[in-house]
Amino acid sequence: MQNKTLQILQEYFGYSDFKMGQKGIIDEVLKGRDVLGIMPTGAGKSLCFQIPALALEGTAIVISPLISLMKDQVDTLNEMGIQAAFINSSLSLKEFRDITAKAQNGDYKLLYIAPERLETESFWELLSQLSISIIAVDEAHCISEWGHDFRPSYTKIAYMIAKLHKRPAVVALTATATIQVKEDIIRLLKLQNPYVLVTGFDRENLYFEVQKPTSKSDFLLGYIKKAGMNSGIVYCSTRKTVESVCKKLNEQGIKATRYHAGLTDGERIANQEAFIFDKAQVIVATNAFGMGIDKSNIRYVIHYNMPKTMENYYQEAGRAGRDGEKAECILLYSAADIITNKLFIENGGMLVDKSNEYKKLQEMADYCNVDNCLRKYILSYFGEDDSPELCDNCGNCVGNVESTDITIEAQKILSCMKRTGERFGSGVITDVLRGSSSEKLRSMDFDKLPTYGIMKEYSKETIKEIIAYLIAEGLIDIKGDKYPILALNMKAYSLLKGENSLYIKRIIAKQQPKHKKSEYKINNDLFEKLREIRKVIADENRVPPFIIFSDTTLKDMCSKLPTTGDAMLAVSGVGKFKLEKYGDRFIDVINKYVSSNTDET
Ligand code: ADP
Ligand code: MG
Repeated sequence: MQNKTLQILQEYFGYSDFKMGQKGIIDEVLKGRDVLGIMPTGAGKSLCFQIPALALEGTAIVISPLISLMKDQVDTLNEMGIQAAFINSSLSLKEFRDITAKAQNGDYKLLYIAPERLETESFWELLSQLSISIIAVDEAHCISEWGHDFRPSYTKIAYMIAKLHKRPAVVALTATATIQVKEDIIRLLKLQNPYVLVTGFDRENLYFEVQKPTSKSDFLLGYIKKAGMNSGIVYCSTRKTVESVCKKLNEQGIKATRYHAGLTDGERIANQEAFIFDKAQVIVATNAFGMGIDKSNIRYVIHYNMPKTMENYYQEAGRAGRDGEKAECILLYSAADIITNKLFIENGGMLVDKSNEYKKLQEMADYCNVDNCLRKYILSYFGEDDSPELCDNCGNCVGNVESTDITIEAQKILSCMKRTGERFGSGVITDVLRGSSSEKLRSMDFDKLPTYGIMKEYSKETIKEIIAYLIAEGLIDIKGDKYPILALNMKAYSLLKGENSLYIKRIIAKQQPKHKKSEYKINNDLFEKLREIRKVIADENRVPPFIIFSDTTLKDMCSKLPTTGDAMLAVSGVGKFKLEKYGDRFIDVINKYVSSNTDET
């Protein structure tokens, strides 16, 4: 059996070795034991049930929460010459009948179903006629009300399993599980003495950075232009920002599309498809976008606004680099985002636990302001306290961080707030400090205050930035629902009394991040050519390009330059079936590239 699984990995999937955790899970499943695997995105969880499905007799039932996920996986399997299908609400009656008939015939190695199927009679009938190899529950956290994507139908799974005349091994997989969710999965799926495997949260291939650009839109534009044809997501906190950012990118000739809950279903689906099929290089979206996106070749995720919590951030940023290739996660921080988020919390319903939300927001803001390793911050946040102090693959590890003492400036601002009665927002405070000659200030006698004009030499932006920083650091509270009013708190008084000092950090000069190796560049031309042929083939087959070959596979072709079938098989991600189907067309491109480059020299 040992050799058999490795053989399947190589022949079908074209990979030479298992990734961390895969082998252990597969071996246990093949022994007939239940498994719960908690592994981060991109760890290769699908293989943990796909390989046992191929190694065992019968059909594996895979329960998966989203139509798009099922479709991607089934397309991927079919592309590798594996018999698989899905049953969900997107099928026509005829398709449903065809698939059911084939399933009864035992034609499929894997049958994907939406959990809602478990509530229909006809499906029970079908199940009773199948010889089932294993039951796989993907995105198993959906079973828990404590998780973020609760799906009531998931709770029917245990009942279904109990009704089978022979109980197969059950494999549950998820990327996100707190202790509570983990216990729910085991209890509600009724797993029997499961083998539980938890690998770390770290995503080594992701580079993290926080930027505080003077102009977010200039930064974004420059970044995307440099990224070339690479796919990326830009997350914004509001629909309005999505609209304006997307418009700006389009005006600059960038193929960007948009996604938010205010669009019609039709447009949302079309825009998502354009992105997944590499027709649009960038998608600008609110956090409504992402669940069920299996696109593996997302090379960057930029947050145009700071999200509310670290959980949100890590989940959204984590959509980059599922294929294991290098990818960047950049957060564009401006202190104004904190104010927006605090207002969201203040104006939220009575039911939300505000103190908890403030705490989470503070932890998110801390991420944007720490001097130390960002990866370490993330991992400690998620309970991995033993991670190294330096990762060498985040903005803070590779950049030089400069700290500036802003104690005096902060004291001036705080005392101005106090003298104006803590009744105003940052606009008025800034005007007083800069000594504005407006009628409004004079009518309130603010021009007679000792703090009037004491920060004349600072720009409005700088003062607002410092105020926002004071909010982020929890020295200033925001009150009022319609217009934010700034008020001092205990921490502010202790700073005013000179009991402590305050520093603001800024990234000054950046070294090249570690991963920007030159080898990447050498074969860029070839990579683009391979990408072109991949797109042509994908269009012919009406599947997204990453399903034909992943970016990792194309990169490996660039470094190995295979010109024979055997050499092609040595490329990671090229199995026998795909070699036969597409090998020649890629070899052609490589041959042309190699000969034209030899001619030149
Ligand atoms: P997850 O479900 O854990 O997020 P996937 O199953 O979607 O991850 O796999 C992520 C990527 O890793 C896919 O492109 C997959 O083909 C690739 N992969 C899986 N197993 C291996 C392996 N043993 N070697 C190389 N790549 C792998
Ligand atoms: Mg998965």
